[in-house]
Amino acid sequence: MAVQRTEEAETASLFDRIGAFLCDHRLDATPHNYAFAYYLISEPKSPVARAVEALTDGGVRLTQPEVDAMNLEVQALGKPGAAKKVDGLVAQTQMQVEGFADMVIAMRAETADFGRDLAESAAAMSRSTDRDAGSIAAAQLAQITATMIARVRTAEARLETVTREASELREKLEEARDNARRDPLTDLPNRRAFEEAYAAQAAAGATLCVAVCDVDHFKSVNDRFGHAVGDRVLKAIGEALCQSCPQHLVARYGGEEFAILFTGVGVKDARKLMEAALVMVSTKRYRLRESDAPLGAITFSAGLTHADNDELLGTAFHRADRLLYAAKSAGRNRLFMG
Ligand code: GH3
Ligand code: MG
Ligand code: MG
Repeated sequence: MAVQRTEEAETASLFDRIGAFLCDHRLDATPHNYAFAYYLISEPKSPVARAVEALTDGGVRLTQPEVDAMNLEVQALGKPGAAKKVDGLVAQTQMQVEGFADMVIAMRAETADFGRDLAESAAAMSRSTDRDAGSIAAAQLAQITATMIARVRTAEARLETVTREASELREKLEEARDNARRDPLTDLPNRRAFEEAYAAQAAAGATLCVAVCDVDHFKSVNDRFGHAVGDRVLKAIGEALCQSCPQHLVARYGGEEFAILFTGVGVKDARKLMEAALVMVSTKRYRLRESDAPLGAITFSAGLTHADNDELLGTAFHRADRLLYAAKSAGRNRLFMG
């Protein structure tokens, strides 16, 4: 009983802290922001949490774009291999934010010194009745101004370097963001990109159809010709799907499975495109690069369905997947729709 109460109290406290974080930063209580706050509170020593501390030092509020950028990193941490690279980028961002802060503090101190010296010189000039003292003060003024101009130039050069580094870092972050959504073998969008596109298009009210394709007897291609040849076949199928469905999103969903998100077309038009893709893949003469020996026919099977805007991708995908397996059972190299 006591243990249960402690657990309940901990949950309530975590919940309150997440709520307070969202309120403090005026962030909407969306699942993404909630997950971000949860991560920060449960991983206070993580590089992302430290970057947040550096950004918000002195009571500065986080903006939604900052949260979105860091949230992508948090999500990418769950992916194998991504953690190290993203950690590096977060650490670089943090160093840069700290560098910016140090520079601004140094510039402020210099400006304050300059203002004080200037005020003192001006006061000395106005107090002075004797000409020599006046011209000494004027010379001091010129000296102070020259020093300040030199410092401003140095600061400008530093600012230029830092700005260039910031834009290089932004490019790297964009690249990391893009890599997280792209399949390296086929260079097609991956499952994550497909899910995001579906959510965005469904929210925008677009007419949607989902097709799921699976290469037929692909294991035997690998077994007979090796994995590298299998990889090339996958690339060729990805290209054929893109050529047949040029206006639509072709993704490598995983393994030897591709998914296509048709937007702005009904299931009849999507069917025509898919049938053209089936023909293109099955009639192509695949040959071994090394010996020119034929690989034999390569085919795929597919399931196609219309998706309602209020339907989760999982539901529509499951329907298309069942149609795909019906197409396999019916003899492969065909499309079933429903
Ligand atoms: P089915 O017609 O029933 O779909 O038969 P299949 O042989 O295509 O299906 P199965 O699921 O038995 O085998 C899929 C194979 O796809 C097994 C796996 O090694 C291979 N595969 C998955 N990803 C890749 C990849 O990236 N490259 C290569 N070369 N092969 C892959
Ligand atoms: Mg499969
Ligand atoms: Mg297969």
